[in-house]
Amino acid sequence: MKARFYRCDGEDVICCLCPRRCRIAPGKRGACLGRMNRNGELCSLVYGAPVAVQVDPIEKKPFADFLPGTKTFSIGTFGCNLFCKNCQNDRLSRGTPSENPGRIVPPEKVVEAALQHRCRSVAFTYNEPTIWAEYAIDIARLAHEAGLKTVLVSNGFITPEAAAELYPLIDAANIDLKSMDPEFYRENCRGELADVLSAIRQYHRTGGHLELTTLVIPGKSDSDEVIGRIFDFAESLQDPGLILHFSRFFPFYQLRDLPATPPETLYRIREMGEKRGLQIRLGNI
Ligand code: SF4
Repeated sequence: MKARFYRCDGEDVICCLCPRRCRIAPGKRGACLGRMNRNGELCSLVYGAPVAVQVDPIEKKPFADFLPGTKTFSIGTFGCNLFCKNCQNDRLSRGTPSENPGRIVPPEKVVEAALQHRCRSVAFTYNEPTIWAEYAIDIARLAHEAGLKTVLVSNGFITPEAAAELYPLIDAANIDLKSMDPEFYRENCRGELADVLSAIRQYHRTGGHLELTTLVIPGKSDSDEVIGRIFDFAESLQDPGLILHFSRFFPFYQLRDLPATPPETLYRIREMGEKRGLQIRLGNI
């Protein structure tokens, strides 16, 4: 499927979907593995190619205050545009989308299935939906026509131009704010905090329901100073409906040598946040 959000430069293409802005030579893929230069044209290898499909409670995404008690039709593909050492889903994020996905699952089939399963929404989740934004955009339009809501679970690593098309079609987003330390994003995720903050603000301006999630990793993203800066950022959005999730880390993937987050750390964060009048939820406790 021909991709959108790119420009040509000679035989190379420059992908403009996420801030990595990969330059991709003919026959090669971008860093997320989901986009490929075929004869000077950028193709999405993940359009219509979900590899994870499930009906989930909306609270599992997590959403604490969006259509509570309802089911959401959740889909995800292979690939990711960040490289988090703590990835909890590397089977999908580091999976390689096939060059020839074969039968495409068209957007209308996803919406039909959501309705059949009596879901109130479709969730773009599991791996990073940014890398299949074209598919999510097409599904979201049809979902709205069918009376369904759309939800996005994302790392927020997306360009402003792609977000300008995707975000207005999203009714609720849970975006990771992994830390307020730029060095953490660079060292742990090979990403840039500034891009994520700008995407969160961009989504917030659409007026959609927003929740943020922080995985609290011992020794990496658990200092009071950095957590305090997350609270500062949350306050800057001036949104009384904003909910902040803080989740417990367990040793996974490339961070197996670290201990799990002590529950007391999360209790302390909740106390700090609630003292500032913020809505805090704890996860994986
Ligand atoms: S979406 Fe993929 S190919 Fe495009 S810039 Fe990001 S990592 Fe590179």
